[in-house]
Amino acid sequence: MKKTISKTEVQKEILLFFSNLNNKTPKDVKKIKRLAMAYNFPLRDLRKTFCKKCLNPYKNPKIRIKKKIRRITCERCGNISRWKIKK
Ligand SMILES: [Zn+2]
Repeated sequence: MKKTISKTEVQKEILLFFSNLNNKTPKDVKKIKRLAMAYNFPLRDLRKTFCKKCLNPYKNPKIRIKKKIRRITCERCGNISRWKIKK
């Protein structure tokens, strides 16, 4: 039997997770990503807090800003994520 939880509870759990990302592992990120997907919860900016390749939460990433594009280099796998800076 699968435990069902409400969407509000899922949202709470996800936000709590991202507010305390420092002690999280890529495995935890994978779990929360799956949870968000299952409940159609848009992660939006929260997706920028971890590497999309190895799912490592960014702790001390290299960030470079060039031409309104922020480049974040993952300290774990070296994958570069680019985000447009919104105004
Ligand atoms: Zn990575």
